[in-house]
Amino acid sequence: MISTGDLYQVYLQHPTVQTDTRKLQPGDVFFALKGPNFNANAFAHDALNAGAAYVVADELTGAPHDRILLVEDVLSSLQELALHHRRTFDIPFIAITGSNGKTTTKELIHTVLSSKYITYTTEGNLNNHIGIPLTLLKIKKDAEIAVIEMGANHLKEIEAYCRYVLPTHGIITNCGKAHLEGFGSPEGVRKAKGELFDFLRGNNGTAFIFDDYDYLHEMSAGIEKIIPYGIHKGFVSGNVAHNKPYIAVQIKDGPMIETQLVGDYNLPNILCAAAVGKYFHIPQDVVAAAIAGYTPSNSRSQLVEQGTNKIIFDAYNANPSSMMAAIENMAGIESGRKVLVLGAMKEMGADSIAEHQQLVDQIAQYKWKHVALVGGDFAKTGHNFLYFPTPEEAGKWLRAQQLQDAYILIKGSRGIAMEKVLG
Ligand code: ATP
Ligand code: MG
Repeated sequence: MISTGDLYQVYLQHPTVQTDTRKLQPGDVFFALKGPNFNANAFAHDALNAGAAYVVADELTGAPHDRILLVEDVLSSLQELALHHRRTFDIPFIAITGSNGKTTTKELIHTVLSSKYITYTTEGNLNNHIGIPLTLLKIKKDAEIAVIEMGANHLKEIEAYCRYVLPTHGIITNCGKAHLEGFGSPEGVRKAKGELFDFLRGNNGTAFIFDDYDYLHEMSAGIEKIIPYGIHKGFVSGNVAHNKPYIAVQIKDGPMIETQLVGDYNLPNILCAAAVGKYFHIPQDVVAAAIAGYTPSNSRSQLVEQGTNKIIFDAYNANPSSMMAAIENMAGIESGRKVLVLGAMKEMGADSIAEHQQLVDQIAQYKWKHVALVGGDFAKTGHNFLYFPTPEEAGKWLRAQQLQDAYILIKGSRGIAMEKVLG
């Protein structure tokens, strides 16, 4: 068995770590992970043949080889290696968790901090027990700040991530209704996300909190340094100046931030990035310019123009909080013709039908004429809206409307594949 210290020496010689044989490049170190449906130990020799410098394995499935490094458990080794690497940096490590808006906030913070510092961050949404160590292992010596997204759908997950990320700063974007299946209840969500603040509390860390959420004040109590950002007050405060449909934020005693993001719900995300920028001594006009230059490209809060119609396209994920935020955002848009094509929410656990019903009842209050519900537990709710079992059928209906000058919200859980509405 190879020790973490020796493995670190290997990593220093070969700093590109790979867990996917399909992406393996010559010179990489291949970590042979096991999952419920695969066991990469079986590919150890294939990886060597493909040019891997070393393979880290916990089972020998073929002949022994001096470049197959055996460890007790590959996943634990990956995480321990990441911790070893993390410890070599004495720089701010900003961790971001929360129910909604993690990736957007992370990208905005990264954009802002990159205007002054060499900043490393989570690529895309690699925010789990494999993605986080891989993110850490991509950080190079020149790093001045790191920004790490942490996702979680059960208790003790964030606590475990903190043990190898060792965050010095932290953000909980919000605690809403997401992944209720794993957490059991909204209290469970707070407890789980709160593990980040527990770590900061015990380690002299700094928390950035959205001042307008009382629960974040409660959750952050006892943390030595708390930097609030908010609508009314805070280290940075500001409000939505207009939403046509890109959101612009007027910073109090500061600049106007024109963005390329759709949705009022991005206000806290933008304020958070502005607060982090100010905290790290970036002038507010530089912060504003950085945020203005950011365009989302990941099916989140994207605006797609089709003819005279504007489509708010959000097929990446959906849960009761983000659905409500998107619906309220639609309500706030000044336009006569609004169309909602909503896909069902997945991973909702025992309350799933009730949550879908609540959403349907909420939409009914707005008296919108064009509402179509798609798939999943929407089928089990009582309502007067159109219902389609598949996004393809909803797309057919949408095209048949021959809409002009309309705002169209398309949103649903990843599993519903709402992109198929657009054909
Ligand atoms: P995931 O759990 O998939 O990693 P995430 O927390 O990283 O999600 P984003 O990808 O940034 O979240 O945003 C996903 C969607 O959540 C957005 O498209 C939007 O609908 C909604 N959303 C974003 N920010 C907020 C917010 N501050 N409050 C409520 N909903 C939000
Ligand atoms: Mg994310």
